[in-house]
Amino acid sequence: MKTYLPARFLVERNAERCIRCKVCTNQCSFDVHSYDSEEDCIQSREENCVGCHRCVIFCPTRAITIRKNPLEYRENYNWRPEVIEDIIKQAETGGVLLTGMGDDKAQRIYWDHLVLNASQVTNPSIDPLREPMELTTFLGRKPDRVELSDDLSLKTEIAPQVKLEVPVMFAAMSYGAVSLHVQESLARAATEAGTLWNTGEGGLHPRLYKYGKNTIVQVASGRFGVHAEYLNAGAVVEIKIGQGAKPGIGGHLPGEKVSAEVSRTRMIPEGTDALSPAPQHDIYSIEDLSQLIYALKEATNYTKPISVKIAAVHNSAAIASGIVRAGADIVVLDGLRGATGAAPKVIRDNVGIPIEMALASVDARLRQEGIRNQASIVISGGIRSAGDVAKAIALGADAVNIGTAALIALGCTVCQQCHTGKCAWGICTSDLFLTKRINPDIGAERVYNLLRGWSVELKDIMGGLGVNAVESLRGNRHHLRGIGLTDTELNILGVQMAGS
Ligand code: SF4
Ligand code: SF4
Repeated sequence: MKTYLPARFLVERNAERCIRCKVCTNQCSFDVHSYDSEEDCIQSREENCVGCHRCVIFCPTRAITIRKNPLEYRENYNWRPEVIEDIIKQAETGGVLLTGMGDDKAQRIYWDHLVLNASQVTNPSIDPLREPMELTTFLGRKPDRVELSDDLSLKTEIAPQVKLEVPVMFAAMSYGAVSLHVQESLARAATEAGTLWNTGEGGLHPRLYKYGKNTIVQVASGRFGVHAEYLNAGAVVEIKIGQGAKPGIGGHLPGEKVSAEVSRTRMIPEGTDALSPAPQHDIYSIEDLSQLIYALKEATNYTKPISVKIAAVHNSAAIASGIVRAGADIVVLDGLRGATGAAPKVIRDNVGIPIEMALASVDARLRQEGIRNQASIVISGGIRSAGDVAKAIALGADAVNIGTAALIALGCTVCQQCHTGKCAWGICTSDLFLTKRINPDIGAERVYNLLRGWSVELKDIMGGLGVNAVESLRGNRHHLRGIGLTDTELNILGVQMAGS
């Protein structure tokens, strides 16, 4: 069937610069470039271009420019180009539209409407170059009060805690959705930086068991790769109920991505689709969740915090309260900008709420109920910078997860083609030719550098605020002010208007 879809990008090649080295033909996994031996030139199939920029970066003579196709439809606010093209795609395929990464719609990004305070005159700022600044964060249930024995030793029994040197962890990305080289890069960077990476729902490859102390092992509805050794290998066990990009629905790793190695790690037959059911089939109430939490505590001999991850939805605050009362030590909230390897577009674009709103309401609810100390709050979903991290902590988070930002550090250009399995940067693919594009030595260094840069910036921000420990910033909304927000939005966020 002839496609009625126009090319989204124009591929321009400077003929004078091109030396016909064919690097672009090898680097492009979407078959855009091909060598024409008769004409001795490189041809472009522009309709295949997804704007991943792999060719642009690797062309040795900088001969390639990728431009957005300026082709315009007649202006119509309702029938925008993307809406028209989605209908054309469905008319041609009859299928569900899939997409990779998080929500890309122009929803309000509240981080950009929040500003941080800075000390002036009466409460002096702190110079992070000369004074110690503490980013260390402990995740886990904290006691209501601490009692000491006569010899000043701790009398109160403390629930298992996990220590982070920096309050930034890597979001769950499963083996199969991302390559083993990506996971190894994250695992090594987490180990180096003193933080945690997360297996996602795909099990733990034997090569990565050695990074267990810096690993969160996930238990999702498909139970892929879950066994006693796996549970005990990690520092934290996470029950995944929901995901910000696709709240309320399950996951699907196509059979083409289930290679021999992925199948062994997930404990499913090679080449079969890995379908995660929408619900956890043994959880239909808070009591059921509590049973699973305590089953996992039993399985790990009460030595590890148990985390529960949910998508940010309308009633997150009530759900989070139930999760904490069910015995979870950490609550993870994933907002609508949270990324995914593949999600139905209709879900990604129409379900879920911004993480800023979910975080503010969950933190406030747990405080009102007097149970905020019983669990740590971790958030994820589009965190882009140390500024976002600082604002998230001031809004009530103990720590944040980053997924897309870590992948960008590895080369991802957010082309949103993860679901195709053809990622030209070798990230979201199990194609053996493509996965070699990530060298774990280089990958770990790049991701570690990102964390290091953010750590320095976080200390700068804290110094400006006049606080020397991240503990003092957590949930301290006095350090935040809103700009361009309505009274209702300010009220939910629990912050005052700038100038007040
Ligand atoms: S990579 Fe650049 S120089 Fe090499 S063939 Fe492609 S456009 Fe020409
Ligand atoms: S991981 Fe790869 S396919 Fe996915 S958005 Fe990034 S570059 Fe594109």
